[in-house]
Amino acid sequence: MKTPTGIDCQYFYGDYFRGRSLEECRLLKAAGQPWSPDLCKTCPVPGITRANACPNLTLHASVGRPFSAVFQRRVQISAWCEKNKRAVAEPHIGCGECHPLPPIFDVKK
Ligand code: SF4
Repeated sequence: MKTPTGIDCQYFYGDYFRGRSLEECRLLKAAGQPWSPDLCKTCPVPGITRANACPNLTLHASVGRPFSAVFQRRVQISAWCEKNKRAVAEPHIGCGECHPLPPIFDVKK
């Protein structure tokens, strides 16, 4: 579903049926974090889900303010691989276990 900023996000839910105007982020809701539409503007999640469709990747979201007084609130993401049971440092790429490079890229000794 498209977020208020016009980007597709699998975690956004909007109910506009018969005059309703319920909007929520189900990723932040699951984490018990408050959501407001401005968070979607800078959120990294749509970019991560476009770049990495690994079914073992789990995203955890929180809302923080980097360099507290200077920047506005932003969604901050940590990622976890359910298959290898470890944190994923770069969620756009993944942990690298399921999708190794093809053998053509192997260096022969
Ligand atoms: S805050 Fe991020 S994860 Fe939540 S609906 Fe907006 S773009 Fe999606």
